[in-house]
Amino acid sequence: MKYLVLFGPPGSGKGTQSENIIEKYGFGHISTGDVLRAEMTNETELGKIAKDYIEKGQLVPDSLIIDMLAKTLDGFHKTNGIIFDGFPRTTAQAVALKEMLKTRGGDVNVMINLIVNEKELLTRLLKRGQTSGRSDDNLETIQKRIDTYNSQTAPVIDYYKGEGKLTNIEGIGTVFGIFEKICERIDVE
Ligand code: AMP
Repeated sequence: MKYLVLFGPPGSGKGTQSENIIEKYGFGHISTGDVLRAEMTNETELGKIAKDYIEKGQLVPDSLIIDMLAKTLDGFHKTNGIIFDGFPRTTAQAVALKEMLKTRGGDVNVMINLIVNEKELLTRLLKRGQTSGRSDDNLETIQKRIDTYNSQTAPVIDYYKGEGKLTNIEGIGTVFGIFEKICERIDVE
């Protein structure tokens, strides 16, 4: 069982590359953003709380995210591997993930960090906002999400560097070219 953290700022291509990885490797996929949006659509308690944070471009509190992730992981059938997309977003979440996987006899095998500059992120997210229907894909919230990434999420890179799991991949280029580099890394595991 391989555990892959697909990391990068909003708009770096995590969702797109997750789809490619799922298709090629048959991995399971956990996107905390997707789970939260489903909770919002279903108007659950968690969904109602999360909405305020998401629409301000802030992170949903760690305790809620960690509980949610543990439940999602418990509901998973056996697969070749799991991609964590948009999680962990804080060092506390990364530490909690390590504990959760330890109880399952595993650990994160690789953390892929997709590197994309801010100008390109803004262009991509504004374009996505024209069709995504996401209430957080507007200029003001996008800027806040990028700031939140820089202050709270980027430190997670150092955590995985310390664990010897970090692989940096340039996230600008063709989708296929980037995917090939991701595959090279997955294949050595
Ligand atoms: P995403 O779909 O990954 O871009 O996530 C959309 C929004 O959901 C983020 O801007 C956060 O408000 C929230 N969110 C998603 N994943 C997490 C997480 N791991 N920790 C905290 N908040 C999250």
